[in-house]
Amino acid sequence: LLTGCGKSDDVLVVGTNAAFPPFEYVGGIGGDEIKGFDIDLARQIAKDAGKTLKVENMKFDSLIVALNSGKIDFIASGMTITPERQKSVDFSAPYYEATQVVLVNKNDEAIHGLDDLKGKHFAVQLGSTADIMAKQYTQEVTAFNTGFEAIKELKNGKVDLVLFDSEPAASYLAKNPELKLISLDFEPEFYGFAVSKSQPELLKSINTTLANMKVSGQYDALIAQHMK
Ligand code: GLN
Repeated sequence: LLTGCGKSDDVLVVGTNAAFPPFEYVGGIGGDEIKGFDIDLARQIAKDAGKTLKVENMKFDSLIVALNSGKIDFIASGMTITPERQKSVDFSAPYYEATQVVLVNKNDEAIHGLDDLKGKHFAVQLGSTADIMAKQYTQEVTAFNTGFEAIKELKNGKVDLVLFDSEPAASYLAKNPELKLISLDFEPEFYGFAVSKSQPELLKSINTTLANMKVSGQYDALIAQHMK
């Protein structure tokens, strides 16, 4: 029996920031269902563990704190595996390779290479790898709770560019034809599911699910379904 609130043994709670399409976003009829590639993977992870998945939508910047305070069991949020984050959480095997890209207004011809980013006014998602990376190029970084807000700022001409992960950038671009996407020579990033360091069994079970989904073709089917 479910207790109705809080965590129960039958429920696996995943934390996400559902403003990162196609990995996690709010959509569907009624508009409040959280969907996406990460959510589908998370659902299979819960199923394999014999549990029901519960999705907690929160600020990206709050995810690691929520994990380490036991509010959520794992993070599925397009989170890049970084040495800094590995000090406080464990990551699954990498499940997706991404990179940063730049979004600018369509008529902006100022950016051709990484050097052109110097001194520009960046908009980023708070606490993201883009947020950290932007500081290598400029003092002017405005951080928002969602990529959506960062893009609004760009469209309003308040910043020069948005630095954001490749897939969500492409996804936002599809809805904002007045912008354009510039691919530069950024390093690849690898997304992983984050688990508390005190939950090695859960980490193992996540890795087993991922490995099984790759072998069965289920992983590729989800890629084909979600990445356009
Ligand atoms: N991959 C980026 C990071 O880990 C952005 C993730 C996100 O905004 N959901 O920081």
